[in-house]
Amino acid sequence: MTTLDTQRSTQEYQAIDASHHIHAFIDQKALNAEKPRVITKGYGAYVEDSDGNRYLDGMSGLWCTNIGYGRKDLVAAAAKQMEDLSYYNMFFHTTHPAVIELSNRLFDFLPKRYSHVVYTNSGSEANELLIRTVRRYWDVVGKPSKKILIGRWNGYHGSTVGSASLGGFKFMHEMGDLPIANIAHIGEPYWYAHGGAATPEAFGLTSAQELEATILALGAENVGAFVAEPFQGAGGMIFPPASYWPEIQRICRKYNVLLCADEVIGGFGRTGEWFSHQHFGFEPDTLTIAKGLTSGYVPMGGLVLSRHMADTLVENGGVFAHGLTYSGHPVAAAVALANINALDQEGIVERVKNDTGPYLQKLLHETFSMHPLIGEIQGQGFVAAIQFAQNKATRTLFENETEVTWRCRTLGFEEGVIVRSTAGRIIMAPTLVMTRDQIDELVEKTHRAVNRTAQELG
Ligand code: PLP
Repeated sequence: MTTLDTQRSTQEYQAIDASHHIHAFIDQKALNAEKPRVITKGYGAYVEDSDGNRYLDGMSGLWCTNIGYGRKDLVAAAAKQMEDLSYYNMFFHTTHPAVIELSNRLFDFLPKRYSHVVYTNSGSEANELLIRTVRRYWDVVGKPSKKILIGRWNGYHGSTVGSASLGGFKFMHEMGDLPIANIAHIGEPYWYAHGGAATPEAFGLTSAQELEATILALGAENVGAFVAEPFQGAGGMIFPPASYWPEIQRICRKYNVLLCADEVIGGFGRTGEWFSHQHFGFEPDTLTIAKGLTSGYVPMGGLVLSRHMADTLVENGGVFAHGLTYSGHPVAAAVALANINALDQEGIVERVKNDTGPYLQKLLHETFSMHPLIGEIQGQGFVAAIQFAQNKATRTLFENETEVTWRCRTLGFEEGVIVRSTAGRIIMAPTLVMTRDQIDELVEKTHRAVNRTAQELG
């Protein structure tokens, strides 16, 4: 059988998978014993597995299916583009209408200070490209020593060599001898775990000022950029205190350091704004995008540049020595265009901002703020985290917090809801099309999983 066989039994799927496939971010030996869930269908806010179980997807796949599953208009856009022009590239002297139309439309949703985009196939590649572009930019403006990029511990920017270096997961650095040279990290603005007796506002300032101290220690003449997620996604959906981003921006401007926002999760309506830095009110020089750009229907990412950076690179940079065979792929571009048009024209992002997003946040607060296991609820729009605490009064975390929240996530699957666990937090990022009834279901099922976790902990 060479075609896609959707009729196999779950056991058959699992056996073949175990024989030939290595999964992401899991101990494969353990998974082979435990067996993966085989997801076979998706529609709206739900997915189904090969045993016919239905789950409300509180994570939009991997925070990417912003528009929900099974949209026929996106399928039609892909099919039409495949018929018209299945592939062409933008190397050297050619281009094609799909990528031109997408680029034109994309800037309708971006603040005016941005003017150009370079496409990739993923968020990792976009951040990989960011490292090269930042360094190139400083060469072009005659400051070639500004080669260091500063990221954050527990930040996540992807799995390739550069992007994983920029990220701050130490267990990832252990695979492949990372980080690469000229990458530094500062701490994360995670008040609940690290804020001690300080108020969130005071802690936000102290966290930001670690950037200043690091720039001074490395020499401002050597630091090219600070790169961070506006809210930290894979590292626990950490929303920094309100004092954090203004102070970071002040420091970057003072030392002539580019401020680079990773909007791979935060982009395309996730917080109710088109891009999450708009929620926090700061002005990055670059944005990396992916995921919600195509709502995960096909892979696509990109690096968005401020007009100033783009003009500098275009006017004085010579050859832009970067290109991927599939950058700006016509099918991905056609799907992205259909996706962002639908997010806009159906008022989906606006609804998250004014209706369903506030509804979700309110319900989470009502449900969990008095819960003995939950110490903090953070979020905005359709992204949220609930923080587990062994003792709420003293903000004491569970010593085995990763196991506790992993167990809660597993119980969530049993309840029919997909949420994700990070160290000490259950996080959610539902599809932006979720209705109020589905939000009720999401929070109710998550509540049941949290209660069952509490019971097991005794
Ligand atoms: N940046 C952030 C903030 C992410 O969350 C991710 C993936 O989860 C990436 C970059 C990497 O994107 P990709 O998996 O498309 O390479």
